[in-house]
Amino acid sequence: MSSPVTKNQPLDTSLCPLCGQANQCAISAGLPPESCWCMQTTVSQQALARLPSEVRGKRCICPACAQDIPSDSNHT
Ligand SMILES: [Zn+2]
Repeated sequence: MSSPVTKNQPLDTSLCPLCGQANQCAISAGLPPESCWCMQTTVSQQALARLPSEVRGKRCICPACAQDIPSDSNHT
């Protein structure tokens, strides 16, 4: 038998749709929206543009993904 683990959350709004990590969204945690990190941080338009249209406006991204990503990915 295969039963879905996340039957209470068909759409997990607490996870970043870009990287799959916790987005630390205050709203999904049941806290006031004004206490969310996104109120103090400017979310990169570049990051928003990477969001699939079906999750845009429905799921929050995480602080890491909200930052501008350098065009030159120079990982060490
Ligand atoms: Zn992310």
